[in-house]
Amino acid sequence: MSNEKYPDAMNALIEALKSFPGVGKRSAERMAFAILKWPGEKREAVGSLISGLSNSVVSCVVCGNIADAEADARCAYCADPSRDASIICVVEEVAQISGIERGGFFRGLYHVLGGRLAPLEGKHAEDLNIESLRARIADGGVLEVILALGQDVEGRATAIYLADLLKTTGVKVSRLASGIPVGADLSYADSATIAAALNGRVPLD
Ligand SMILES: [Zn+2]
Repeated sequence: MSNEKYPDAMNALIEALKSFPGVGKRSAERMAFAILKWPGEKREAVGSLISGLSNSVVSCVVCGNIADAEADARCAYCADPSRDASIICVVEEVAQISGIERGGFFRGLYHVLGGRLAPLEGKHAEDLNIESLRARIADGGVLEVILALGQDVEGRATAIYLADLLKTTGVKVSRLASGIPVGADLSYADSATIAAALNGRVPLD
């Protein structure tokens, strides 16, 4: 297909950059040429930032959010005693937490599922961080679980599954008011929308 004759290393870089969300071949080429113009030190610094992630960023042992490997593997929210540990907001992906934080309204803790139920894509309950959520609730002190999942078919199915699973625990289970964008788009929703969705949350039973 390609008419361009790039050195192998450029082709490999372009291929790698294409794996960013929303980046096609042309954007990947522009990025690769921009990187090529950087001074050598900058390329090396960015390269080691990327390769260092494996050791410096880990999954929070409590909630599955990203955490500093040197902070007892607890994320900034789980380690913050001023957060309200009686409310857990369940999200699909780590990136959605910053969306909710932008609302400036939520003071509880989080739980990251790592996706949603999608049997057709081979994503089943045992592939998600559901057991650890159950364990947190079993430890006591949790009064409410807010399901901040996508409003599409799979997000709803996941919410119904979790609400059913948590029924016997006695915790209040609610979901965000409708009006919040689907799934990962939560990361980009504006703060007023998120605050309204949290404020108007609907009990599930
Ligand atoms: Zn955490």
